[in-house]
Amino acid sequence: MSAIDLNARASSTFAQKLAETQALLQQAARDYAPSNAGDEPRVTLACSLGAEDMVLAHLINTLQLNIGIFVLETGQLHAETLVLLERLQASSRTKVSVFKPVAQATIDFVAREGKDAMYKSIPLRKACCQIRKMEPLSRALAGKDAWITGLRREQSGARAEVPLIDTSEPRVKLNPLANWTWGDVWFYVAENQVDYNPLHDQFYPSIGCAPCTRAISLGEDFRAGRWWWENETAKECGLHVKS
Ligand code: SF4
Repeated sequence: MSAIDLNARASSTFAQKLAETQALLQQAARDYAPSNAGDEPRVTLACSLGAEDMVLAHLINTLQLNIGIFVLETGQLHAETLVLLERLQASSRTKVSVFKPVAQATIDFVAREGKDAMYKSIPLRKACCQIRKMEPLSRALAGKDAWITGLRREQSGARAEVPLIDTSEPRVKLNPLANWTWGDVWFYVAENQVDYNPLHDQFYPSIGCAPCTRAISLGEDFRAGRWWWENETAKECGLHVKS
């Protein structure tokens, strides 16, 4: 059974939510238009290549919005995710920028701590995320006044309060899918034939780096397959943790 068959169920307010999402993206493109002609927009989508972010990339492209898209290619992504990245780059009207970790930093870390360091302790796992995600993220967001994420309140307890517009940090974070359900996401994917990661069809709802992502079983939480050896409160890579 595909992820579409399993999940595509629009909530009763889906049309209203979609209209709000489109309006928020259009407003962002206006508010954070390039300062000078020829410059890049001052707003960008952090695209993990998961279903939510593929929906947002699809909306940005179909609405022809001047909003950048970037992907953090950590060097640990599944083969399926890398192939999806190639397809997105080939099909996207908006440029898809790829940010990778500093090669020497990953080599040094693996030499010092081992390739399975993330399983040894939370500090080592976070150190790996720092090198492979956080440092590239800081480069991806340099010069941007706002960024867009696919965070949804339903994803985890830690995300239950996610606002549509988060102004608590100097760089504004927009979460246009904050109130979408998982069913809404897949309804949009099905209706619009959005490309998606085939791992979603293998019970991977949330997809990150290969060593830190597993399939979930029926009844398990949405993010149970991420850093499954850690407790719930520690399970963020730092991208969405308040400074
Ligand atoms: S998710 Fe895992 S492999 Fe990826 S950067 Fe974090 S610790 Fe490293």
